[in-house]
Amino acid sequence: MERSRVILHADMDAFFASVEQRDRPELRGRPVIVGATSARGVVAAASYEAREFGVQSAMPGFRARELCPGGVFLRSDMRKYARVSEQVQRVFEEFTDAVQPLALDEAFLDVTGSVALFGGVLPLARLLKRRVREETGLVVSVGVGPSKLVAKLACTLGKPDGLLIVPEHAVRPLLDPLPVRRLFGVGPVLAAELERAGFLSVGALATADVARLTRVVGARANELVALARGEDPRPVEAERAPKSYGEENTFERDVSARDVITAALTAHAEAVARRLRHDGYVARTITVKAKLGRARGQRLARTPVLGGEPLYPVVTRRTTLHLATDDGAEIAQVAVKCYDALGLAEPVRLLGVTASNLQQRAAEQLELFASNRRRALGPALDAIARRFGNDAVRRAVDSPEKLTPSLLKKRGE
Ligand SMILES: [Mg+2]
Repeated sequence: MERSRVILHADMDAFFASVEQRDRPELRGRPVIVGATSARGVVAAASYEAREFGVQSAMPGFRARELCPGGVFLRSDMRKYARVSEQVQRVFEEFTDAVQPLALDEAFLDVTGSVALFGGVLPLARLLKRRVREETGLVVSVGVGPSKLVAKLACTLGKPDGLLIVPEHAVRPLLDPLPVRRLFGVGPVLAAELERAGFLSVGALATADVARLTRVVGARANELVALARGEDPRPVEAERAPKSYGEENTFERDVSARDVITAALTAHAEAVARRLRHDGYVARTITVKAKLGRARGQRLARTPVLGGEPLYPVVTRRTTLHLATDDGAEIAQVAVKCYDALGLAEPVRLLGVTASNLQQRAAEQLELFASNRRRALGPALDAIARRFGNDAVRRAVDSPEKLTPSLLKKRGE
């Protein structure tokens, strides 16, 4: 039999609003609403005090004002939230290497291998909550279960300041009475279809006749039944963050022609940018490397030899940008400048471009929304959706003030 897993879902309570209340004690106990300051703004986060008035994330600002006219409306400070997010992620990594961030304030942890180390699931979960509070002064809710689905649900059900552990035998009793829309992965549209067809509870779905369910939802029927039974084999996909992305080439003949050098640097820059975009990163530091065709200076007149291979001098020059980028043209421009700064008079035999000092694009996008409208939102959303599902999109790109209400509606909110 397969060893059962221990999956933990951790999610900060009212993250942005809690950070503001932490930093401004006069706001504690008051309804704080972040991100709905402009006329067309949308609520990014609401403190629990604000939620008592019915204010929710992604709600248009005018509606939030109607519901909670005495609320404290604050601009979001994404840079600050991203910094706190870093601290939280570091704490998560104290408990396992298998951490899959879902958003700035939320992650799955596979702690199967570390439970024993912490003396059991409950001590581990308690310690994680305590460590987050020690490092950030903020409250995190924790749900634990044998799968992602159950862990996430347990976390949500326990909020605020939750700690809910659901052992294998408690999964079905927990899930069965819930409405189908509570299943992680069942969006509002699918939920409505299921309800129309008479599948009102998760339990009804778990015991559904697959042929009948197939007529309602098509090929997803089997998957849905499994989800409803709490069977969710999706692994926690730990992100081994790369340190850098580099491309280089060796010329057949040593090169000094300016146009060839510019073309090579541009091609490398574009390739690096493509890989950054593919993996969802942006980079702040661009490094150009050149291997010289012959040794420099008098003292190196005899080319040094290592293991029979001639050793060519390598020179590098790097630039750190104010704002991280994944734009090929921008990286190429910086690379050419770096090359020029090297001031090489001699031909080169190898050229390379490396992007480092990486940041996850999801977090970075939040910071850039305000200043860089040129940036297309679509591809980023698509990428996150592919990786984490639509629910993650709403949370990961939690800067709804820049999303118009119609776009939010299209996404089913
Ligand atoms: Mg949260």
